Amino acid sequence: MTMNVLGYAATHAKEDLAPIRFERRDARPDDVVIEILYCGVCHSDLHTARNDWGWTTYPIVPGHEIIGRVVAVGRDVTRFKPGDPVGVGCLVDSCRQCDACASGEEQYCDGATYTYGGEDRHDHTKTQGGYSNKIVVSETFVLRIPDRLDLKGAAPLLCAGITTWSPLRHWKAGKDSRVAVVGLGGLGHMALKLAKALGAEVTLFTRSKGKEQDARRLGADHIVLSGVEAQMAAVRGRFNLIIDTVPYVHDLNPYLPTLAMDGTLVLVGYLGGLEPFLNTTPMVLRRKSVAGSLIGGIQETQELLDFCGQHGITSDVEVIPMQDINVAFERMLKSDVKYRFVIDMATLKAR
Ligand code: NAP
Ligand code: ZN
Repeated sequence: MTMNVLGYAATHAKEDLAPIRFERRDARPDDVVIEILYCGVCHSDLHTARNDWGWTTYPIVPGHEIIGRVVAVGRDVTRFKPGDPVGVGCLVDSCRQCDACASGEEQYCDGATYTYGGEDRHDHTKTQGGYSNKIVVSETFVLRIPDRLDLKGAAPLLCAGITTWSPLRHWKAGKDSRVAVVGLGGLGHMALKLAKALGAEVTLFTRSKGKEQDARRLGADHIVLSGVEAQMAAVRGRFNLIIDTVPYVHDLNPYLPTLAMDGTLVLVGYLGGLEPFLNTTPMVLRRKSVAGSLIGGIQETQELLDFCGQHGITSDVEVIPMQDINVAFERMLKSDVKYRFVIDMATLKAR
């Protein structure tokens, strides 16, 4: 048996997203059935819809910042009951046996199943994401949402939040560290908030004049215009950690001199070859690293949600109806987002 679900899908790299009806499985014993209330719009949804990474198969229903309410549970589910507010991020399953899974870092499991465009390891069907009214997920991959968090603002924590939280934690950002963030979009604004809440001194690198006031409100102590050489020179040797959220190829060479000795620049935005060449001299002379990082594990995502519950942290969101998704994608390409679009899924059935 399957359940019929309504959503929005991309059917071709050059076509707008449009309504679709598709099937999801009925709940298996360990599954939670969730009515989706909100879904954040991540730049990865846009990359996937337009096949920027070359691995999209169509039709694809994007969306991996999912907030909803439990409507039913399988007989073995112990942690959730109907009515609970819950979240689903970028992962819906993993092999559950490898070293990565054993250490709670399911995102690095070879058998990790992504929320959309993945393959269910039991029935081999393709997974489809949160631009839809219902989803069925094994309870192990369902997150609890702390009571005090606004549900709309909590949705982006499930990707933008955890993707920046994980490197902040891995590289031990805290009150003695100086953290910089490159790019003020969905990931960038969460990075500012989280780094600040962890006690770090926080700097934003941005291409955009005019984001200064927002950046300060979001937690930045300093703002550096990345195109202005004098401003870049003024922060030479400064940062222990730089989180780079820029989605497209860009020159990393101007940033490496701004790292302190032993500092790390971690790429979370761009996937692919670097251009122009990367000058290793600043790395060799001061033991600096260039690294990458992928979302975060389930346990770490729950830790982030609980931290946000304690500190009252949510994303700054612009709520949109489902029908406006194609306009939202175009605005995202122009960096015209303050600072995350979130789809109100009630609009999917209303029209
Ligand atoms: P976003 O909201 O569009 O923000 C990207 C920001 O990067 C922009 O606001 C802009 O900030 C800056 N930027 C610099 N050069 C740009 C360019 N050529 N075009 C557009 N923006 C540019 O995107 P996001 O949702 O934060 O996602 C950022 C990237 O992270 C995407 O590539 C996404 O796929 C990736 N991602 C990775 C993971 C992971 O696990 N590693 C998870 C989620 C998303 P300024 O105006 O301040 O310069
Ligand atoms: Zn994402």
